[in-house]
Amino acid sequence: MPTSPASTSSLPFSPPLTDARGRPMRDLRISVTDRCNLRCTYCMPREIFDRNHVFLPRSDLLSFEEILCIARTFVSLGIRKIRLTGGEPLLRRGVENLVRELARLTDEGGAPIEVTLTTNGVLLAQKAKALKDAGLARLTVSLDGLSDAVFKRMSDVDVPVSTVLNGIASAKQAGFSSIKVNMVVKRHVNDHELLPMARHFKDSGITLRFIEYMDVGSTNGWRMEEVVTAGEILEVIGSQYPLERLGAGDGVAQRWRYRDGKGEIGIIASVTQAFCDGCTRMRLSTDGKLYTCLFAEDAKADLKTMLRNGKTEEDLKQAISDCWKIREDRYSQIRHQLTESHFKKIEMSYIGG
Ligand code: SAM
Ligand code: SF4
Ligand code: SF4
Repeated sequence: MPTSPASTSSLPFSPPLTDARGRPMRDLRISVTDRCNLRCTYCMPREIFDRNHVFLPRSDLLSFEEILCIARTFVSLGIRKIRLTGGEPLLRRGVENLVRELARLTDEGGAPIEVTLTTNGVLLAQKAKALKDAGLARLTVSLDGLSDAVFKRMSDVDVPVSTVLNGIASAKQAGFSSIKVNMVVKRHVNDHELLPMARHFKDSGITLRFIEYMDVGSTNGWRMEEVVTAGEILEVIGSQYPLERLGAGDGVAQRWRYRDGKGEIGIIASVTQAFCDGCTRMRLSTDGKLYTCLFAEDAKADLKTMLRNGKTEEDLKQAISDCWKIREDRYSQIRHQLTESHFKKIEMSYIGG
């Protein structure tokens, strides 16, 4: 195959691509599996993702070699950050080997590409050291509550919270200095866990980030009434632990610092304060399709088929550039003008959060 990922690429590096709204392409999310060991009601509700649900057959998954080849092409187009996600990325066998190869990629100046991963933490205690040794730079763990009852209501499985907390502890022990915890907040389901979660992670060196519950996919039955807004979250936390805003954030999460100096929190207000203007992210699905928005209806290119039909890295580069250049997505900014019939959105577990 002319695209053999084993070959050393001599693709020339280019300045960052910009889309039709002037946004540069800077980071890539790669979903390495569409499967998961949890059934979070807001992402993979059990009624839909049950035993009749057809997950991708193994042959449709991008191999690690194919992922590497695609990642290298993205790096040649200016990407400097890669996040592995899913589904649950730790379910993909040997994911640490993929991390090791990706972490070897460098930009034109020889600086390493930053490789990160988002996990539900269930398998983290087993995997943390291997991931650290493989060169994973940062880790985000999702956790929606501290009580087993709340965790079960959100994740719809019988895993105790201590499994995830042990995973986080193992990651710290393995030497991860930058760990974030993501908490999706749903009204009347886990909003009473806002303060206990803040208390638990305050002064721990871990940044807790609160995420507004989003209308991703078409299966979670999303209703605006269930969204606990960024404003409400800040009010609850701030009433107990005074906060002050820290700079502009990273374009996605707002950063807030505890006034007593004991750490910070993040808020991802994708529903009430859309950040589409700063959205610089491309997404690669488990089966090699490109999506330019989390709320996309359709893939913009099929890189797996291109690779398996013998296309070269130059061809991939052209295809990626073509779909970024015409990108106009800004779903979160216009969601309130759209009706249900406008969209059959893709599931988050398939393109990765
Ligand atoms: N399984 C891994 C995990 O849960 O961390 C990685 C994939 S998951 C799709 C990535 C992130 O998306 C998680 O932090 C999850 O909480 C978030 N997420 C999923 N569905 C969401 C929704 N409807 N609204 C807001 N965040 C969501
Ligand atoms: Fe699985 Fe993550 Fe989706 Fe929960 S949010 S169902 S852990 S992919
Ligand atoms: Fe980016 Fe689409 Fe989310 Fe806007 S709605 S921030 S364009 S992923």
